[in-house]
Amino acid sequence: MSALARSVLVTGSNRGIGLELVRQLAASPQPPQHIFATCRDPEGPRGKALRELAAQHPSIKLVQLDTVNLASIRGAVRAVESHLKDQGLNLLINNAGVSSHATLRSLDLQEMLSIFATNAVGPIQVAKEFLPLLDKAAKGMGKEGLSCSRAAVINVSTKLGSIGLCLGVLEAPMYPYRASKAAQNMVTRCMAAELRDQGILCTAIHPGWVKTDMGTEKAPLTVEQSVRGILSVLAGLSQETSGAFLDWEGNSLPW
Ligand code: NDP
Repeated sequence: MSALARSVLVTGSNRGIGLELVRQLAASPQPPQHIFATCRDPEGPRGKALRELAAQHPSIKLVQLDTVNLASIRGAVRAVESHLKDQGLNLLINNAGVSSHATLRSLDLQEMLSIFATNAVGPIQVAKEFLPLLDKAAKGMGKEGLSCSRAAVINVSTKLGSIGLCLGVLEAPMYPYRASKAAQNMVTRCMAAELRDQGILCTAIHPGWVKTDMGTEKAPLTVEQSVRGILSVLAGLSQETSGAFLDWEGNSLPW
């Protein structure tokens, strides 16, 4: 099996789904040459598990990246560029996200705006700043069509952001989280349409309900299962599934 991509960047990779994405990519039989494992504080206590993982795999490069801080995003672009030299970045996985259980009655403006900043504005800002490197990858590989091995942006979304499904609102209102992920979904659709002719794929992935700090112990899926599914879905993406909203098993979801 060939590598999913020559270079991959994951946001929010110090724990949860992001950490497992880096772990499975690094352990794959044909690992990417560069795995840019990014997080807010790679040197601090929350980066410990990621540092330990990186120590075992030379392909993993730790990069500081706070997705709501433009200076940090630009610093990450420079760090990634210095590793890639004259190559582009093939695959950007916008995984970082925050949850909120606020209801109509309990929500407050600042919380709503901060959840939007991370879940909707963060992914578009990160994609915007990395676009020159994605564009370079799309042009440089001598590949046709769309794929994660050529150039792609994957936005980690959630079924709870689907307006079509509008799942369990009474049990889990989560207004800021749902609305911000619905906005992120629109960003995915727009970027897929705009970047298609540039050779850059863009797809939204729902990871399932996963046992992480966010998903809690009640979730049915382990991170290992979810990420195994996500990576196999990513390997099969093409023109047909750019602009799609898929779950970790490859099933199509309504927007
Ligand atoms: P976790 O809460 O376990 O981890 C969230 C990650 O995002 C952490 O690494 C956190 O970093 C990072 N993060 C948050 N804000 C920022 C920021 N501003 N800049 C950089 N990193 C940031 O969540 P999961 O692993 O469960 O979730 C990953 C993604 O999957 C999210 O987008 C989530 O919405 C989505 N998802 C998860 C589901 C689940 O059941 N778990 C279900 C559906 C979707 P730090 O440690 O610094 O806080």
